[in-house]
Amino acid sequence: MFSRILIPIDLHDDTKARSMIDAAVQLRGQDGQIVLLHVVEDIPSYVAIELPSGILASQKEESIRTLEDLSRREGLNAAIDVRIGQPASAILEAADEHGSDVIVIASHRPGLQDYLIGSTAARVVRHSRCSVLVIR
Ligand code: ADP
Repeated sequence: MFSRILIPIDLHDDTKARSMIDAAVQLRGQDGQIVLLHVVEDIPSYVAIELPSGILASQKEESIRTLEDLSRREGLNAAIDVRIGQPASAILEAADEHGSDVIVIASHRPGLQDYLIGSTAARVVRHSRCSVLVIR
């Protein structure tokens, strides 16, 4: 059993969210805590200057609401974490900060099955200090 489970969800494509959540619920002990994480990808400043100001902040707000809805719908009572940054680095940082003992991550976006594992998932598996469960 794991007591602190981190589920990074790419909200642009959450088709694997269901399988990740099912796995996390099975791994969770009686008092286990689930954290749902989304990383809003940071944009280079030369791109940001062309965009309306506050776009990342509003994406962050929207992502928090989406994850809160998901947690409520699934009855997870999960903690929500939304960060701005580079997905793999932010996932690894979040795992350290939350003291996660397992990260449940999807292998890649559907349609990219030719690759064994996506680039974010690969970096997380390679660098994580805690166990990682890769959902296919
Ligand atoms: P692909 O390269 O096929 O898109 P990724 O490695 O990027 O595959 O994604 C695999 C998994 O990594 C996602 O299903 C999700 O669990 C996690 N992930 C990727 N991007 C993000 C993100 N921006 N925020 C949170 N989790 C993410």
